[in-house]
Formats: sequence, C-alpha cells, structure tokens
Amino acid sequence: MTVQQRTRGAAQCVDCGRAMAVRITSEETLLPIGSTDGCPCGGTEFRMLGE
Ligand SMILES: [Zn+2]
Repeated sequence: MTVQQRTRGAAQCVDCGRAMAVRITSEETLLPIGSTDGCPCGGTEFRMLGE
C-alpha cells in the first residue's frame, strides 16, 4: 500500500451522469468525496471522466 498513484479524480455517476469529485481507493473503487453514500440520485457506481 505504499505505491502512490492518483488518489483523486473526476468521475461521473453511471445512473444520472452527474459529475463529481471522487477519491480513488487502492482497489480502484471510486468514492465520492464528501458523500460516502454515493450520488444524490442513489447511484453507487461511477466511472472516470475522460482526461
Ligand atoms: Zn447519480
């Protein structure tokens, strides 16, 4: 767990398309920053936005 990679980025909710800042875990799970329950729409799946 010492490898430093990108730990934050912008992602988009798969359900509603909302863009939000996320934290990227070591398992590449995307966790919305400041919203541990996921997107306000109820979605919990996110995909990274393009660079
Ligand atoms: Zn959503």
